[in-house]
Amino acid sequence: MRKLETTLDRIDRKGYGAYKDLSGSHDFDDFTLFIDRVQRDPFAPPSLVRVRTKANRFDPPLFENPVRRFAFEDFLTRCVDEAIRKVVRGNRGSGGSGRIEIQSPSQIVLPRTAMVVDGEYIEARMAVGLPARGRSVDAKAAKDMLLEELPEIVRRALSPENVDAETALRHVETVEDAESLRDLLPSLGLVAFVADGAMLPRESGASDRPLREGSIPFESPPEMRIPVELPNRGEVSGMGIPEGVTLVAGGGFHGKSTLLEAISLGVYDHVPGDGREFVVSRGDSVKIRAEDGRSVSGVDISAMIGDLPGGKDTSRFSTPNASGSTSQAANISEALEIGTSLLLVDEDTSATNFMVRDERMRELVRKEPISPFIELVKPLHRNLGVSTIIVVGGVGGYLDVADSVILMEDYAPSEATARAAEAREKFPPRASATPASAGGADVENPSHRTIRASSINLRRGKKETARGRGTDAIELGRERVDLSHLEQLAEPGQTEAIARAIGNFAAGKKDRSLREAVEEALANIERDGLGSLGDFRGNPGEMSMPRSQEIAAAMNRARSLRADSR
Ligand code: ADP
Ligand code: MG
Repeated sequence: MRKLETTLDRIDRKGYGAYKDLSGSHDFDDFTLFIDRVQRDPFAPPSLVRVRTKANRFDPPLFENPVRRFAFEDFLTRCVDEAIRKVVRGNRGSGGSGRIEIQSPSQIVLPRTAMVVDGEYIEARMAVGLPARGRSVDAKAAKDMLLEELPEIVRRALSPENVDAETALRHVETVEDAESLRDLLPSLGLVAFVADGAMLPRESGASDRPLREGSIPFESPPEMRIPVELPNRGEVSGMGIPEGVTLVAGGGFHGKSTLLEAISLGVYDHVPGDGREFVVSRGDSVKIRAEDGRSVSGVDISAMIGDLPGGKDTSRFSTPNASGSTSQAANISEALEIGTSLLLVDEDTSATNFMVRDERMRELVRKEPISPFIELVKPLHRNLGVSTIIVVGGVGGYLDVADSVILMEDYAPSEATARAAEAREKFPPRASATPASAGGADVENPSHRTIRASSINLRRGKKETARGRGTDAIELGRERVDLSHLEQLAEPGQTEAIARAIGNFAAGKKDRSLREAVEEALANIERDGLGSLGDFRGNPGEMSMPRSQEIAAAMNRARSLRADSR
């Protein structure tokens, strides 16, 4: 601490570059401050620091197993984030002067690089905008930040005396319960569970926070209500969605998409107070949508799409510009290739001609290459064990292929499988409307593709780069890969980790099947930690754990990607 103070006094008013002298470790009373990277000027990306406490005096049950540990790390990250808001004065001169930041968590709980809970210490990784007057060192402001604010943040957020033990325990117990609930799904024959009392709607289309006013709590239809036993909370009841084909029907604006969205984010755990703490789905679920304009490389979509104009081979389909239906078909094939047990489909974001085709269109358009999804959902389950939850308001044909039907009215679900059967009797399907192949078509797992590592070019000028850009894109060399349609990509830290994992694959120059490449990336993370994807020793930057489904999806969307069926 002394050394830090004298160095700051010495470099006051010197050129900004003099901050380099702060690099290294500095001893404080209860923690060590590591200054890992010093920014070049006040406008450059902020400096990276770590704060490591000299002991971990928190109650061991808060981090006694891997799940509790990452949940507690998440909790402490939020504590630091809150302390920063209260303590840091911010804006103290040019550029990012005076800012202190920690990776900002979303509504979900994930393993992240921002915080490490070790048996011996707690370590928080932060970004600091070293303050400048013009382009010279402002030592007084820097002392404020590093000698006053940082210790105060540590005191408030990382000291057991000041962290509410009960809130912390509730956080880790909630996450542990959600994980165990998700693990229970297969043995219960379920693909998803929505707890009674859950609050599903969000504040707005742009915010993942719960809707504050007028939110109607979820209430399971009695026929579908299932009690489950959770390790901490005890018995919880809710709607169990069984394996097979489930239809969510109902009029417009009755909460169908909101339910499906909650289920699709049920692959993740949520913070207490989110409203979706006990809304879970199979961890490998994939939301499928139309995504016209995306590129596709060598994907076998022949189960869904037959001959295309110009004799294009759909068992090795490539295009720089997919249509609504071909993109949706590719999304399904790719999901099966990386592995999934649950597809989630919403009519709002589907290509109409992919979903169904009525008898008149069959008569008029004889050269239609598409076997609509309605013919595939049953075989997907029967042959491949892949279930589907599908939201449909307007297409009654799906009643013929659904194993269960949930009707949404005024945000309230009811079990409508029997009523759906009556409706079908009243209006029986005409032979040509539901072709013989409905429920009878064959689907197989798509063949695995070999990815040409060299097709992903990381060159950007003299450097090789692979970077995340918010939640909407990654940059691989000069290519910007659009990920804005990946609804299950939850936070920027995941995007960053995905970009770097793909970068490592490309740099490794070894061709592999897509699945092997992704499995290897995750095995490396498992072995060396998420931080091993970063490029600074000790301070990896801001990353969150991605799923294999999103790593694969990102790779699949690279326009330069070359992939061949084996
Ligand atoms: P649908 O897909 O059936 O057309 P949405 O799921 O888009 O309907 O929901 C329509 C609107 O109702 C949205 O603004 C959503 O936030 C809101 N909403 C959904 N579920 C609830 C609920 N349980 N309580 C209050 N508002 C809700
Ligand atoms: Mg909708």
